[in-house]
Amino acid sequence: MPADRRRERHEALVALFDAEGAALDALLVTSRPNIRYLTGFSGSAGVAVATRADLLLVTDFRYAEQAQAEAGAVARVEIEGASVWDRLFKELPTLGALTTVGYEAHAVTVKDAERFSAGAAGKAWRWKPAGELVERLRARKDPAEIAAIRAAATLAGEALRATIVAVRPGQTELEIAGLLEGALRRFGSEGHPFPAIVASGPRSALPHAQTSRRTVAAGEWLLIDFGAVVDGYCADITRTVVVGARATDAQRALYDLVAGAQRRAREGVRAGMPGREADALARDPIGARGFGDAFGHSTGHGLGLEVHEAPRLARTATEPLPLDAVVTIEPGVYLPGRGGVRIEDDVHLSVDGPVLLSDGHTDLVELV
Ligand code: ZN
Ligand code: ZN
Repeated sequence: MPADRRRERHEALVALFDAEGAALDALLVTSRPNIRYLTGFSGSAGVAVATRADLLLVTDFRYAEQAQAEAGAVARVEIEGASVWDRLFKELPTLGALTTVGYEAHAVTVKDAERFSAGAAGKAWRWKPAGELVERLRARKDPAEIAAIRAAATLAGEALRATIVAVRPGQTELEIAGLLEGALRRFGSEGHPFPAIVASGPRSALPHAQTSRRTVAAGEWLLIDFGAVVDGYCADITRTVVVGARATDAQRALYDLVAGAQRRAREGVRAGMPGREADALARDPIGARGFGDAFGHSTGHGLGLEVHEAPRLARTATEPLPLDAVVTIEPGVYLPGRGGVRIEDDVHLSVDGPVLLSDGHTDLVELV
């Protein structure tokens, strides 16, 4: 059993209550991954409140057993049959004198915000939008979290290898996505963090293509971007291969450019480096060859309970990358009408430098 870090996480969160003069007495946590991070509860509905001393989880009757089993060791669990919000306002006074209660402004709907301003009517609580406090903690992974991401990345690589041998010209993108998603399940993925993206031929030039009914032809690019989940933690991998033929010289040149940039970034990225410096590791060699405009997205993002989370590896990211963050490295070059190449691996920013969690098999694959 990995060490249970939930109490440490609660303490670390409380330490942020006074950050930047916020002087919070409590934080209302409505983001599902944040609730899971703090309490262990993985259900789809519920709200949590962290005070300096207590952790409260309110959820509905569907989750009575699950919530107690997952969160009962660290949180007081209250089950509500009617309105989780009404129950929350009933329970809040039991948490002691609370003056300033922060809320996750980035993770509440307008409707929720109206509910808690109405629910607090006549009460002494002052609601205050808080920054992304739990997300800040989540950016640094502990060994169990890193192990889960590594397990997800490993099974994703195995599922791709098992799929790719069955790919043939004449199949549709959807068929290939189906093969891959089936393999991911067979190899043990708990779910798909996002539907697999399979984009062929000119569609590979759409950075966020939706898998379609298009039939893959010999000699075309096939771009596959997919994930896996283990213990709630996500992996995110992209491979681009040539189907049914040897690569042309132009295809090989494009591939080598992206693969070289990706390797430069995944080997050069370090904790403490500003996100934009990490981005530049991949962007500079692509720009130097005149393809800067064809690489229109950022180099990478954090991975964890969510498939996109802090930190960002982008031109505008000035913050240093946290030690023990797990990030993707995924440069791409997209040539409209002709096709694109993206290559994505997952990297742990350890104290000793970057450690690959995915297989890093980025030599050009020609499925002939
Ligand atoms: Zn991806
Ligand atoms: Zn990604």
